[in-house]
Amino acid sequence: MVRITLVQGDITAEKADVIVNAANSSLLGGGGVDGAVHRRGGPEILAACRALRASRYGKGLATGQAVATTAGRLQAGHVVHTVGPVWSREEDRSALLASCYRESLRVADELGARTVAFPAISTGVYGWPIDDGARIAVETVRASGTAVEEVRFVLFDERAYAAFEARLA
Ligand code: ADP
Repeated sequence: MVRITLVQGDITAEKADVIVNAANSSLLGGGGVDGAVHRRGGPEILAACRALRASRYGKGLATGQAVATTAGRLQAGHVVHTVGPVWSREEDRSALLASCYRESLRVADELGARTVAFPAISTGVYGWPIDDGARIAVETVRASGTAVEEVRFVLFDERAYAAFEARLA
């Protein structure tokens, strides 16, 4: 059974086999977690993302999918980039958000990772309500059947931390 832990802070300061990036489909950087990953991880990560765009991911990474690169200077073996859905009031995109967690763990399993750090995907610029984002994250990880030993949710602020804490209790 995977152990779920919570930390409040900056995910780019974490030590883990895999750090998950809340990327956008271009894979070429953005704000929030994505900006921090590239800033602190250094240019090797962007170079690896460019190489992906030049090969298998010519059109970018689809929403709900995940792909691994080097972690550059981060204290991690790999960064797994995943693209969360933008929150919509009209359309239920929950399955895509669940897919981000599931696919990231599938890639982490392929890499033999024992520890994986996740941000609260889609709950920043993409506008997903934090309570629902926490629910989907925790439910999906619990149901995943991953071989990963520890999934660590790294929450940027107190509100996000409280939402995950309530969901775990
Ligand atoms: P998205 O575009 O998927 O919404 P964001 O990066 O904008 O992604 O935000 C996702 C979540 O990560 C938000 O809850 C945001 O507050 C949080 N966040 C932003 N920067 C960091 C960071 N450096 N470490 C951990 N969490 C972060």
